[in-house]
Amino acid sequence: MTSYRIAALNGDGIGPEITQATLAVLKAALKNHPELQIEWLRLPMGFEAIESHGHPLPSFVLPELQNCHGWILGPHDCAAYPEEFQSELNPSGTIRKHFDLYANLRPARKIPGLPSVVEAIDLVIARENTEGFYADRNMHWGTGEFLPVPGVALAVGVFTEKAAERIAHTAFQLARSRRNHVSIVHKANVLRATTGLFLKTCRRVGEQYPQVRVEDYHIDAMAAHLVRRPAEFDVIVTTNMFGDILSDLTAELAGSLGTGGSVNAGDRHTMAQAIHGGAPDIAGKGVANPTGLLRSSVLLFQRLARQHDDPGLEALANTVDQALDTTLTSGVHTPDLGGTASTNEFAQAVIARL
Ligand code: ATP
Repeated sequence: MTSYRIAALNGDGIGPEITQATLAVLKAALKNHPELQIEWLRLPMGFEAIESHGHPLPSFVLPELQNCHGWILGPHDCAAYPEEFQSELNPSGTIRKHFDLYANLRPARKIPGLPSVVEAIDLVIARENTEGFYADRNMHWGTGEFLPVPGVALAVGVFTEKAAERIAHTAFQLARSRRNHVSIVHKANVLRATTGLFLKTCRRVGEQYPQVRVEDYHIDAMAAHLVRRPAEFDVIVTTNMFGDILSDLTAELAGSLGTGGSVNAGDRHTMAQAIHGGAPDIAGKGVANPTGLLRSSVLLFQRLARQHDDPGLEALANTVDQALDTTLTSGVHTPDLGGTASTNEFAQAVIARL
């Protein structure tokens, strides 16, 4: 029997609802896999942690995560935290930085029967996750944004060859297992030194993958291409902020923001995290779509299965993935997709199809 330790952190807003639904599906799927044993660990994060331990990410959480094979992170609503935490790195940023989770992989795939803006899309955005213009994580100490005098704001973007190189390798390796096509997204005509370095480095890494077709696009042009001809893209590799923005677009094109899953991956650790935020406008109503977090968990298990060469775990992940597809195809939808199913009803429908 193989045994894994997986942590779950509920987070804020719709976090507790979607995390509970996700765990219910995963635990039900596990019943069909007696060869696998998962020890679940609940850890506090966000408002819950502020109330219980005085901090959105208490100091004992990182060492606990270190002892896990992977973890499932709910969204946080850090903009609403008390003033004293506003200048700190937010919980997911802290975790990404601490474990050097440099690749944020965000697939968008159209599922038959799912109401969506476009008829076909099946791509993955490989987003650089550690630097760029993200002021809360691009500095060793302090943040990359300043207000030197009232009315004047400055921002520092950090772009290194090393970070571009490793996300490029991730993207090209991913493309080798898909349709052998990588699109590099940048703005090297204006941000010449920074995103120019990113482009040049990705192009150089691409030379090591002669089977893979490489193109590059300016970010603004790519936004238009994605709306007009999304089916023509396979793997998109891009910088932190561009990837964040483009992946909300591709999730919505494929269905809704609530369907977007992702993993934050480093060489050793992987974190499942839906691409959306805490959605405070619908929190507590029981209508949030848990698909994004469920898909993220599937990606986490698929990755762990490869790392540990474990066909049982791969089978578990694929069972959940397929049950999710058939549920969505059969028309059981939460309100973000135009349906009436509650979060719990949707989870039960997935469980019935496992
Ligand atoms: P963040 O910057 O933290 O990612 P955000 O400002 O992008 O957050 P979200 O919290 O992602 O905003 O919400 C954007 C919109 O999408 C809201 O109207 C929200 O209700 C909706 N939404 C997000 N996630 C879901 C979900 N899982 N199910 C249904 N609707 C969702």
